[in-house]
Amino acid sequence: MQTRSADERREHLVALYHEAVACTRCPLHQDRTKVVFGSGNADAYLMFVGEAPGQEEDLQGLPFVGRAGKLLDQLLEEVGLERGDVFITNVLKSRPPGNRDPQPDEIQACRPYLDRQIELIEPHVVCTLGNFATKLLTRSPRGITTVRGRPQVHEIGGRTLRVYPLFHPAAALRTPRVLEELREDFAGLPSLLAEPPPVPVGAVGPVRPAPEAAPQTNLFE
Ligand code: URA
Repeated sequence: MQTRSADERREHLVALYHEAVACTRCPLHQDRTKVVFGSGNADAYLMFVGEAPGQEEDLQGLPFVGRAGKLLDQLLEEVGLERGDVFITNVLKSRPPGNRDPQPDEIQACRPYLDRQIELIEPHVVCTLGNFATKLLTRSPRGITTVRGRPQVHEIGGRTLRVYPLFHPAAALRTPRVLEELREDFAGLPSLLAEPPPVPVGAVGPVRPAPEAAPQTNLFE
């Protein structure tokens, strides 16, 4: 059920951003330059969740601004979308040293931010990029190669939505076959977004009307 206006939800999201900036829940706060909270449309129907900020993201405080981000931009453009249409964030909001894998305690510490972002943005579709985001949000050990390109209905942050697992763009930069499959899966996005949102168990109708054009309010500009 949508209970808050877009303005209210945006206000809460900005407050959450300030909470993340001051966060010391895991040791990653000691070495980060900037918290990478996420960016884009605070009222988006489509959200992307990557793994963790890299060096460039840590410096700029923005997600996916390096090579993988350029590829993400290109893939979005190919299906008629741009960053202002979507919200992009990561499992971790702080950079792990040397871009090592996120550790279970770090994922656990950061998880409430992601849940709350999903609760506030109210996306219909969440694309998980790579294994870490996919395993976290599908609550399953099944890897991205097995589950990619097939939407799953899940309840996250108190909302029923579709999780759409995709290869991580960084993996696609390394392997041409992965890029091909990522592109194929991106091509399925417009029809997925046009579907009515999944109905929560016990509810009688859609939570929000199917997307036409999501309002273009950008956070932190
Ligand atoms: N890889 C990620 O998973 N996230 C970023 O923000 C950048 C690269």
